[in-house]
Amino acid sequence: MRVWNIDPKLLCNQHLLGEHFEIHCFRGSIIKNKSIKGYIEKGFVEVHNLRKRHNKLAEEIINRGMNHKSEFEKCKHWEAGIIDIQENLKELKKRCGACNYRIEMDETINILAKRIADIIDEEIINDIIKKSRGEINEDCMGER
Ligand SMILES: [Zn+2]
Ligand SMILES: [Zn+2]
Repeated sequence: MRVWNIDPKLLCNQHLLGEHFEIHCFRGSIIKNKSIKGYIEKGFVEVHNLRKRHNKLAEEIINRGMNHKSEFEKCKHWEAGIIDIQENLKELKKRCGACNYRIEMDETINILAKRIADIIDEEIINDIIKKSRGEINEDCMGER
């Protein structure tokens, strides 16, 4: 049982449904008073975030057109466990080709988006500088 805590959009269907199922298993263990100490120590679960995480996964499951009928009923919860998301991204990329593809695409898009934002910002700033120097006269724009 393991909660990845990475952006649900980056999970392949199998890992999305898998993590959702395992969150219900964690809840099952808590209700039955079965110890999840080992999972907490390994950073596989954040007990205080189980319900919030479940609902995010459920939302993504529904967004992908799949059924979700298992609500996460409130249960005993306490502050325990820290999940390392960066570590989990690396681990999941190693384990699953489909997740790897989604994560790499997302990283590429983020890099491109940043580059584009830089370019646009620079252009706008250059325009402002030119305007302030009188190098662009807006009245004449588009002529010639
Ligand atoms: Zn559910
Ligand atoms: Zn996967």
